[in-house]
Amino acid sequence: MTCDAIRPLLAVDAAGLLDAGESRRVAEHVRECAACSAELEGLGALTGALSRQPAPQPPDDLVYRTRLRMAAEADRRQGAHLALVSGVLAWLIALATWQIGSLLAGGNGIWIWIWWSTVAASLGSAAVAALVVRHRVGRSWL
Ligand SMILES: [Zn+2]
Repeated sequence: MTCDAIRPLLAVDAAGLLDAGESRRVAEHVRECAACSAELEGLGALTGALSRQPAPQPPDDLVYRTRLRMAAEADRRQGAHLALVSGVLAWLIALATWQIGSLLAGGNGIWIWIWWSTVAASLGSAAVAALVVRHRVGRSWL
């Protein structure tokens, strides 16, 4: 193999991450090539020095904080989904109560429709809020 083909493998070999076949090819090349041999030796010294450095330790509460962030992100996404569902529900309630209000007032019932839609929307909002609270209590694993 040529030096150009071996050089990209030298750092990986110095780190001990090459498979047996590639490592053997590198070893065969550096036996005959002084430049690549010197580069591999330098990389080996660097790898050894780096491996003796203390590894950074993650904070003790990293898992807890990660779970909190994941829960906050899930809440944010769920909130957007519930807002969409609430909007569709309110639209359906308005359509349904328009028919009821028209029937009760004989076609002249804008105030009755407002009253009916307010009651229905309030009940729908309470139902959505109860679902949200129930879901959050059920997910209290944090
Ligand atoms: Zn070489």
